[in-house]
Amino acid sequence: MGRLCSPPADMREILAALGLADVSSGVFAGGWVDAPGGGEIVSVQPSTGLPIARVLAAGDADYDAAVDAAVRAFAGWRVVPAPRRGELVREIADALRRHKAALGKLVSLETGKILAEGEGEVQEMIDVADFAVGLSRQLYGNAMHSERRDHRMFEQWHPLGPVGVLTAFNFPVAVWAWNALLAAVCGDTVVWKPSEEAPLSAVAVTRLANEVCRRAGHPPLFSLAVGGAELGARMASDARLPLVSATGSCRMGRAVGEAVARRMGRSLLELGGNNAVIVLDDADLDLAVRAVLFGAVGTAGQRCTSTRRLLVQRGVAAELTGRLVAAYGKVVVGDPLARETLMGPLIHARAVDAMMAALDAARRQGGEVLCGGTRVDRPGFFVTPAIVGAHAGMEIVKEETFAPILYVLQVESLAEAIALQNDVRQGLSSAVFTRDLRAAEAFLAATGSDCGIANVNLGTSGAEIGGAFGGEKDTGGGRESGSDAWKAYMRRQTVTINHGTELPLAQGVRFGE
Ligand code: NAD
Repeated sequence: MGRLCSPPADMREILAALGLADVSSGVFAGGWVDAPGGGEIVSVQPSTGLPIARVLAAGDADYDAAVDAAVRAFAGWRVVPAPRRGELVREIADALRRHKAALGKLVSLETGKILAEGEGEVQEMIDVADFAVGLSRQLYGNAMHSERRDHRMFEQWHPLGPVGVLTAFNFPVAVWAWNALLAAVCGDTVVWKPSEEAPLSAVAVTRLANEVCRRAGHPPLFSLAVGGAELGARMASDARLPLVSATGSCRMGRAVGEAVARRMGRSLLELGGNNAVIVLDDADLDLAVRAVLFGAVGTAGQRCTSTRRLLVQRGVAAELTGRLVAAYGKVVVGDPLARETLMGPLIHARAVDAMMAALDAARRQGGEVLCGGTRVDRPGFFVTPAIVGAHAGMEIVKEETFAPILYVLQVESLAEAIALQNDVRQGLSSAVFTRDLRAAEAFLAATGSDCGIANVNLGTSGAEIGGAFGGEKDTGGGRESGSDAWKAYMRRQTVTINHGTELPLAQGVRFGE
């Protein structure tokens, strides 16, 4: 039984609004499994360090049941016409709209992100749902001209199967939506293993989405198996899941990618970033300061797209650094539910330790902490955001520390900045601030940024859902959300029809004539 443990006064209200007051099970396998056997996972509120609730995780048999349910549901769902599948997703969007406030608050409580960002995350789910509804009428294949007379060639896209979705703690519900709602219009069903740091948000969303399925007369499409890394590993090697979409650290992605490849499955990897903002001498510094502040401090530096490196041209280095240090001094760190707060806590004590260890390494390697970087003396996992004066030889600058540390490096030229920016293993998001058209285009050219996302005069963080989201190199190469990312969730079939009376062979080959 999932007990509520000293919940804050309004917590019961939030949970009740989401139908979670007596939540205990973290396994949905065509219905909620009463007493799953995978032990308890405690959901902890990062702003107090206290438990919110206990969720029962999936044991082996529960996991199997969750996948079996998704396999069964797929058999029927794949033959529902795609625009009808879109109608279901539209109803999920409506349900999300109705529950936006409560769900946004739960996300804030469980992850520590500020309320505006918790609500923004739910809005992102709604946006992607709306996108998926439109997509349900646009799953287009190409038609080709055949080289053979009286032949017609085209490609069509079929549903792929049940999709495994592994998510990270920092976007505990939006990343599910990116995957699950696109997968749903593509005719797939979903098995979700959420982060062990945010099981309650996952239970809430699963409840909401399957309730919509029930009311619409469809079988439940969205299985849930709460559990730890070992459950994720099991999912990676599970041949019943033709696609595993995994979001998280590069370390996790490497393990998942290898396991999925061993069984010839398909993986979609959305992994760590080490994103840089380049600010040139001619930049609009007002824009740059705001963008870097949001990118580096927003979500307490716990976004895959967080700004971790500032590569600033010599002429504006002192002014920009000074303005940022001043802006950091005004950042209100505190209760994520308070409207004036700009930065909430880190996710857990280990994250605070990792931030302190990175700062120690930075000092040892010749960096200078210009501001912040301290633990805040109060319950929960609070720190002050740090700016570090750094140089290119520092190894720590090449790592993704999932915390609000901004390394500032001075550069002479755009060419030097691009070379430095690309000289890391990750390749997710990047940005340049300049008023010079040529510099902007050089940044976007094939010899410019090597990242999956490249922005001009806006920061690295806060992507819209309409574009394909993802990155290169150790970031994993996956693309999710907008554009043609839906193709990952379907199987392509190239069709040739001969409507003539001859059997001409391709390439003009003659055989036995
Ligand atoms: P994490 O890698 O610790 O965990 C992510 C998920 O993978 C969790 O569900 C976890 O249980 C599971 N997992 C961990 N090890 C596994 C293994 N060996 N096999 C199978 N599953 C395993 O990541 P986190 O701390 O939750 O999230 C932070 C990381 O996620 C950062 O590196 C961040 O950049 C990245 N991230 C990337 C994106 C993106 O779209 N590129 C988005 C959000 C977060």
